[in-house]
Amino acid sequence: MLDRRSYLKFALAAAATPLASRLAFAQQPGPFTLPKLGYAYDALEPNIDAQTMEIHHTRHHQAYVNNANAVVAQWPDLAKTPVEDLLRDLSKAPENVRTAIRNNVGGHWNHSMFWELMTPGGAKEPQGDLKAAIDSGFGDLGKMKERVNAAGAGRFGSGWAWLVVNKDGKLDVISTANQDTPLELGVRAVVLGVDVWEHAYYLKYQNRRPDYLGAWWNTVNWDKAAQNFAKAKA
Ligand code: MN
Repeated sequence: MLDRRSYLKFALAAAATPLASRLAFAQQPGPFTLPKLGYAYDALEPNIDAQTMEIHHTRHHQAYVNNANAVVAQWPDLAKTPVEDLLRDLSKAPENVRTAIRNNVGGHWNHSMFWELMTPGGAKEPQGDLKAAIDSGFGDLGKMKERVNAAGAGRFGSGWAWLVVNKDGKLDVISTANQDTPLELGVRAVVLGVDVWEHAYYLKYQNRRPDYLGAWWNTVNWDKAAQNFAKAKA
């Protein structure tokens, strides 16, 4: 827990931050807060069940938030270091807190992105520039999905599968372990990502991770993915 003096310090630091950068999570320093979902826990049924969504958000993601905030006591600069700058270069953090930051600030970033990448409505397929890039990079949407599914199913243990714009500006599919983010690999943008930790699917799918991956595509927020893709050109 933050004492009052620390809290005031953070509040003042936040007030001194320009509004434009406070609006973007990417530039938000600690202390960290659990983002609200843009839909109800049962909104992604039957693809992702309500109980999984609620536990995933209120217990798992909240734990990353709490643990990330706890790091501030050991390294106060966390409260003024933009999240993505830090995750792109973990050597900015002292060695004794680096693993805690990798796991918990990374977990917070990954999940904050993940919730926004799902929606109960919206386009069922990518459009425009993102569609064109997927078609030219992979052949078609189905082939891109196969690559992501293979990356997710092939991740031993816990982690994520991602569609990114890599250093060379090309769409690419990668997988990361645990709560490692693609940011430290120097990607230009993270277009979409899927959580393949068992906590993301076990209640409904048990050991059938490929079934979860197949259903997850029905929830993808292609408008958000397109916005993420556009960041690679910015
Ligand atoms: Mn998760």
